Amino acid sequence: MTVSDLDMHEWDSPMYREAIGQFDRVADLMGLDDNVADRLRFPQKATVVSFPFRHDTYENVDTLFGYRVQHLTTMGPTKGGIRFAPDVNLGEVAALAMLMTWKCAIVGVPFGGAKGGVRVDPMALSRAELQRVTRRFTMEIINVIGPDTDIPAPDMGTNEQVMAWLMDTYSQHMGHAVPAVVTGKPPALGGSVARREATGRGLMFLLPQAAHHVGLEVAGARVAIHGFGNVGRYAAVAAEEMGCRVVAVSDISGAIYDEDGIDVASAAKWVDEHRLLEGYPSAEHIDGAKLFTVPCDVLVPAALQGVITSENAGDVQAKVIIEGANNPTNIDADDTLKERGIFVVPDILANAGGVTVSYFEWVQDVQKYFWTENEIVGRLRQIMTSAFDDVLGVATTENVDMRTAALIKGIRRIADAKLVRGIFP
Ligand code: NAD
Repeated sequence: MTVSDLDMHEWDSPMYREAIGQFDRVADLMGLDDNVADRLRFPQKATVVSFPFRHDTYENVDTLFGYRVQHLTTMGPTKGGIRFAPDVNLGEVAALAMLMTWKCAIVGVPFGGAKGGVRVDPMALSRAELQRVTRRFTMEIINVIGPDTDIPAPDMGTNEQVMAWLMDTYSQHMGHAVPAVVTGKPPALGGSVARREATGRGLMFLLPQAAHHVGLEVAGARVAIHGFGNVGRYAAVAAEEMGCRVVAVSDISGAIYDEDGIDVASAAKWVDEHRLLEGYPSAEHIDGAKLFTVPCDVLVPAALQGVITSENAGDVQAKVIIEGANNPTNIDADDTLKERGIFVVPDILANAGGVTVSYFEWVQDVQKYFWTENEIVGRLRQIMTSAFDDVLGVATTENVDMRTAALIKGIRRIADAKLVRGIFP
């Protein structure tokens, strides 16, 4: 089957085509069994719902669309975030679910990939509205999630509070508390300490190895970060703690730049108080799109997919890109970065810290035995850095880039498991 044959599929979208394009290229390169390859190209389950949502103004009711896609149920429960965004769609969620499958396999956590979303702008909702959307969406998908079947987590536009409402709604329905149904909850409800910081921190755990590979000094390295939400903000905090200079960060309102280094804590405080970087007084404001081309050594896309494109890839000044967001680099931009010798640590490896600590959280909830922050951060560091070494090892032996190597590692693990499980009946 070729990519053009995807036209007839329900989950067809530009992002799904990107994910399939990457998968097909690597499956070919690996000489993957065609039967296994075909099974892995499509999600195993996809749920689409529509439901009514009453605004705070009582007479105003909208119909919202929601999605939950489970790509692979071979390895254990499925796992993946729920995003609230105005343009989320089935194809986007299907692509992200597939990426989650590879990601879990790369870091060796016993989950398949899933992803979900509601097509709504969370910035336009009051707290009460956000709660109603979350609880109703949870009810709509209640039969497809569960601690042994599919475990959601936060993603773009959702956070700890949203996960708490999801856990509460599920638990009300079951008649008893079920903390393990979701990760990324507040610690008061059985959430893991250090989950909030895990993705951003995990990214930065890989910086020393990536820097070593390209001959860059970590201390004083200039870092630019696209996105200042959960991933971007804690990546910025970790970079600063490692002695880097965070020269630029951005959010939906635009970017701020300071060649001497932004005071990350002060920018974070501003965002806590004002929601956006807009108006932040202690740095120069620049156009959001310029963030990708500012003078820097390390670029961390940590907001949206498809932001490093054939248009801006030629102007990226960084030597290393560590992908915090899922799918931030288009395939054609990847080729340009490769030609220019920019070392890319791909999303499915770089941002796996989130699902790794989510796995720790689930294990703690199931066992009802909680670990210390030191244990969690130490195990996270160990898993992330050895996954990096493994992927770099594959890249070296197979003479391929890191994205291809990461996919080879992830796909190989899944394909092996599928072949030994066999086909039912
Ligand atoms: P978030 O909602 O906490 O933050 C998103 C950030 O992106 C915000 O600063 C927002 O202002 C900014 N943004 C939104 N639209 C933008 C636009 N059009 N232009 C510029 N900036 C924009 O989301 P998050 O959890 O930090 O997730 C960010 C990315 O990381 C997503 O791709 C997500 O899938 C991925 N990711 C998240 C986690 C996690 O643990 N949260 C784990 C792995 C991957």
